[in-house]
Amino acid sequence: MSPLLTVEKVEAAYGVSPALFGVSLSVGEGEAVALMGRNGMGKTTMVKTICGLLPRTAGRVEVAGRDTKGLAPHRVARLGIGLVPEGRRCFAPLTVEENLITAARPGHWDFSTVSELFPRLAERRRQTARTLSGGEQQMLAIGRALMTNPRLLILDEATEGLAPAIRQEIWRSLHKLKTEGLAILVIDKSLTELSTLVDRYVIIEKGEDVWKGKPAELTAEIAARHLGVA
Ligand code: ATP
Repeated sequence: MSPLLTVEKVEAAYGVSPALFGVSLSVGEGEAVALMGRNGMGKTTMVKTICGLLPRTAGRVEVAGRDTKGLAPHRVARLGIGLVPEGRRCFAPLTVEENLITAARPGHWDFSTVSELFPRLAERRRQTARTLSGGEQQMLAIGRALMTNPRLLILDEATEGLAPAIRQEIWRSLHKLKTEGLAILVIDKSLTELSTLVDRYVIIEKGEDVWKGKPAELTAEIAARHLGVA
């Protein structure tokens, strides 16, 4: 069976400045993979390229066996990708419920199942997104991505800058989603949390993949060399 997401030797650029130089990775059904690397190494650029927000200049991206070349972002999303973007990007003037409902596509995830995962969203359903705390906005961003009923959830720094208790709640939700069989591609800095969630790590450096392996295979030396972790 082909993986849910296949990225092969992908290159991308911002105008004339190249940012990705041939990255390959894959995520299988029900698998969780972490995309790692120091700041500015190309993680967000990789996510944008997968989602069709940035055109690739070479290489191949396939979602559920379908080449995404030339597809607009909403068409890529319909192939089964739910993106939780860096900076959350909730619709500030809309209520929690409206933010969720506007993303809805048929499937297991609806207002009620998202509310079970994040009860706070149900409590705040009539509040506008702009009145939520950062952590609640992050839950809303995850909830909104789930409302599209994706086969693969992509999270770009979803726990960044949040209080520890909220961070824990988000990690708990990701474990639950993985257990339920959702495939996950996650960018995050917390090695401790990632090591218990994901099946594989992919490390990129200066727009190239430089190391791939299981969490247990990541030695202190590799972490120091590619992630700057002592
Ligand atoms: P961070 O953890 O800081 O978000 P990252 O690994 O996600 O880092 P990217 O944001 O993908 O890195 O950046 C990769 C490279 O592309 C960097 O050199 C960055 O300066 C450049 N870059 C990112 N966004 C743009 C943009 N909109 N225009 C031009 N260059 C950009």
